[in-house]
Amino acid sequence: METERDQLYIDGNWSVPSGTDNLEVENPTTQEVMGSIPQGDAQDVDRAVRAAHSALHDWWAVPATERAAMCAKVAEGLQARQGELADLITSELGMPHMLSTLIQTGLPSLTFGSMPEVLSQTEIESEIGNALVVREPRGVVAAITPWNYPLHQIALKLAPALTAGNTVVLKPSEITPLNAFMLFEVLDEVGFPKGVVNLVTGTGPVVGQALAEHPLVDMITFTGSTGTGRRLGEVAARDVKRLALELGGKSANIILDDADLQRAVTDGISKCFLNSGQTCIALTRMLVPESKLDEVNQIAENVASAQKVGDPFEEGVALGPLVSADQRERVRNYIDKGVAEGAKLLTGGTEAPAGLDTGYFVQPTVFTNVSNDSTIAQEEIFGPVLSIIPFRDEAHAVELANDSPYGLAGAVWSGDDARALDVAKRIRTGQIEVNGGSFNPAAPFGGFKQSGHGREAGVFGLEEFFEVKAILR
Ligand code: ADP
Repeated sequence: METERDQLYIDGNWSVPSGTDNLEVENPTTQEVMGSIPQGDAQDVDRAVRAAHSALHDWWAVPATERAAMCAKVAEGLQARQGELADLITSELGMPHMLSTLIQTGLPSLTFGSMPEVLSQTEIESEIGNALVVREPRGVVAAITPWNYPLHQIALKLAPALTAGNTVVLKPSEITPLNAFMLFEVLDEVGFPKGVVNLVTGTGPVVGQALAEHPLVDMITFTGSTGTGRRLGEVAARDVKRLALELGGKSANIILDDADLQRAVTDGISKCFLNSGQTCIALTRMLVPESKLDEVNQIAENVASAQKVGDPFEEGVALGPLVSADQRERVRNYIDKGVAEGAKLLTGGTEAPAGLDTGYFVQPTVFTNVSNDSTIAQEEIFGPVLSIIPFRDEAHAVELANDSPYGLAGAVWSGDDARALDVAKRIRTGQIEVNGGSFNPAAPFGGFKQSGHGREAGVFGLEEFFEVKAILR
């Protein structure tokens, strides 16, 4: 597996970057340097954006069905490398290998592979009276992605952007960047025309910023922190660039008084701790009836403390390390803050889990009797930290769930499906599951409020990459 990368992918070729600096990639389990990538600069960004701009017209002229078929070939290429990719992402990120295989590599190939079908469900041309309404690509797309589901987030942007006829420059996260190089090997094998897809790696403030600001970029699509999203919003506003943002979350899991507590709490904990809590849709606020608090505490403590933490390559491990020393520090600070603000620590804490002194491990941590106003209930922690928050009645639960700057995801549990659905409809989030409803890769994904705007995945995700033109006849 190649982990020493010294070239960028620009204008259909692997190309030497203009700068000579490299960025190291660390394995968060061993704390060893496992590879390196080029630190691109503004000149590299300029070359890549110009290549994408030059390629635009010819790519747009390729029939959409052919573009979608090329994406389906990318899916085959990713499948052929699934084992290697899962090993690589497990090493870069620390997610347990079985989950890396399913989510981190299975999902991206599903996304690329779904493009012919998604396209067939989209009306490229329609009529309104004398208006012929046509969908056209937005132009050059700058895709800036984070480290937590690295290839999935790249696929959610690249597959629909390319299918819609846009050309793309990708700036992946510098923390888990190696999988992007493998994807670009596949894109190269599939044979996209020169300039249609480009890869420039480096840090956010250097490469990401230069890319977003480039005058030939027509659209920015970003997944990451709300702080960076806000900054990119300002950059986009200057040139009135199109913008899609998928940002943070602080999702509520409402467990109503008639729910099966054991099932709901167990499911909620696994969805809070997925990827060691480094998941934007993590169900980090568990809202439970006051009258059931003791029972819930008991179940939560048992389930959380039984989660196996350790080497992500080891079978049966549920939580690997956090991605970096910085991330662990941030999470530990939040745990300290939770204690300082008076929440009751049921299990976990800031000390490393027993026997895991090497690697950025954090104990699965559960707070109870948490006030929804407290820092740990309002801010996104991005670590394995659950807050149990009591409510008086259903109306209070809805009020607490909506009392958040975010609006990405959520869940409702009830013994009565109709009641759960009714509550789900009152929660201001882009997605919400009812009684454990399973993840749907074709369903629209994105946020209300400060969780962002725009939708990814399926037909809504493709729609995001089109401009709409009315031709009056
Ligand atoms: P995270 O906490 O997920 O790392 P960030 O928002 O910092 O969230 O990073 C997400 C992506 O945004 C990464 O690819 C990062 O390099 C990039 N990024 C960070 N700062 C900027 C910036 N000022 N301009 C453009 N991109 C940025």
